[in-house]
Amino acid sequence: MAGIFSFKCSSCDEIHEGSPSFGFNAPDPYLEQSEEIQSKGKLSDDLCYYEDEDGIHYFARVTVEIPIHGIEDGFLWGVWVSLSKASYEHYVNNFTKEEIDQGYFGWFSNYLPYYSNTYALATNVYPQANGKRPILELQEKDHELYHDFINGISITKAQKIAELCIHG
Ligand SMILES: [Zn+2]
Repeated sequence: MAGIFSFKCSSCDEIHEGSPSFGFNAPDPYLEQSEEIQSKGKLSDDLCYYEDEDGIHYFARVTVEIPIHGIEDGFLWGVWVSLSKASYEHYVNNFTKEEIDQGYFGWFSNYLPYYSNTYALATNVYPQANGKRPILELQEKDHELYHDFINGISITKAQKIAELCIHG
């Protein structure tokens, strides 16, 4: 039977309980913009856009789950993906619908700790009913995050990544 994730932290000696869940407040490229560009754009809990010399860049916050071996709930990341204008508008217009039968293509837009560069990995975005965060699926690529997404990670690896997220 699948268990509950908890471990004694080697950094702070406390027991951390529950499957890890870490989120990013913004897409990394947004944080790299000037205050002026940021102030003319938008950043909420779920949506973001900004305009630079290349045009307008659109983002949505999504959830990607990495299975942990033998544990019921996986390692959850709240990350941002960039969407085309058409996908972004479709997402915004259908946000509170009970059924959304369309997925989107998205580019991974955060740098996850532990992993080598996760920026601009190709993904499929699946909007969920009633305003729940979309679920992310990574497209096949020879990258550790993709392999972990498909194969899951050991409890030891989950602990190592969680410690890094909690304590830096
Ligand atoms: Zn700790």
